[in-house]
Formats: sequence, structure tokens, C-alpha cells
Amino acid sequence: MDTRELFAKHSLRCTRQRMAVYEALVSCEGHPTAEELFRIVKPRTERLSRATVYNTLEALASVWLVRRMPTTDGGSRYDADTTSHLHLCLGDGAEIVNVPSELSRRLLESLPGDTLGRIGDALGVRITGLFIQLHGVPAPEAEEPGAARGPGGVGAVGALKLGPNASDTAGGGSRLLPTRRSPK
Ligand SMILES: [Zn+2]
Repeated sequence: MDTRELFAKHSLRCTRQRMAVYEALVSCEGHPTAEELFRIVKPRTERLSRATVYNTLEALASVWLVRRMPTTDGGSRYDADTTSHLHLCLGDGAEIVNVPSELSRRLLESLPGDTLGRIGDALGVRITGLFIQLHGVPAPEAEEPGAARGPGGVGAVGALKLGPNASDTAGGGSRLLPTRRSPK
């Protein structure tokens, strides 16, 4: 499915600028900010404003075509890979990398669904998602890769989509990350 069809499927307004923003994000290796995306796309796209980039990312996030990840500096980074995976957030969030899916799944599956269910009961809500955000700095070079790290050793940003039954903690989706707004 090409970008035009994808936008149509999600009832997103389709302009050359919007398509350029989405396609640039898809081809990005990392998780850029809106400003970084603007700088990538601007040289090759006529009449592209920062507002268009921000609005496009908002619209894409609202229909889950991209994931938006808040950073500790109050900003956001974006990911066109909406498959289930957690993120490793380094330092002030200036860098976010993917956690291998196997390890992402392991962490998500270890979450106590019964506790989440009880939290929902206690607050009188049905919990539909969970956002995990750990923060850290790179481990010292001497430390062996894969060695156990205490709090502050690494940071992970991830998300878990919960099933209708709050005890269903397996899966780990991404639908809870972006704030919903009108897809238009
Ligand atoms: Zn990612």
C-alpha cells in the first residue's frame, strides 16, 4: 500500500508535504524529533513549514500510523515502526533506541496483570494501557554487556496495550502512547 492509499484508508488529508514527512520518518533509522524531521524533509520539499510537520505527526499519531514518545526534556520523538517493541531512552532522551523484541516481550509479560486489575478496581476504571518509562545513562565501558544493572543503569521507554481483561498483560502494543486528537 503506498502512502496515498494509506492516508486515504485512515481518512487523513493527503498533501505532498504530509506524504514527504511520513515517508521520511519511515526511512529513518532512529526516532527523530519533529525538528529533526523538518530539517531532513525541508530541503527536498516545497513550502514545508514546521507547523505542517507538527500537525502531520499529530495526525499520524492519532491514527496510530506513528508512535510518539515523550522525552524528559518535554519534547517528543517519533517512530514509524508501530510493531510491539520497547525503547531504551538514554540520558535526557536525546537518544532513543529499540529494545530487541524478545526482551521487550519478556519485560511486558512479567508485569503483574492481577495488580493492574486491582488498580483498575480501586480507581473504578478499566485500565486500557500502561506506559513504562525508565531513565538512565550509558553504563561504564568496563561493565560487561548484558551484566545486571541497577536502577539508573539504563532507561527504557515502552508501552503495553492491555486487553479487555486487565490481567491480559501479554502482547505489548503501542496504542496508548499518543494523545488522541482529531485525525484531520
Ligand atoms: Zn522504535
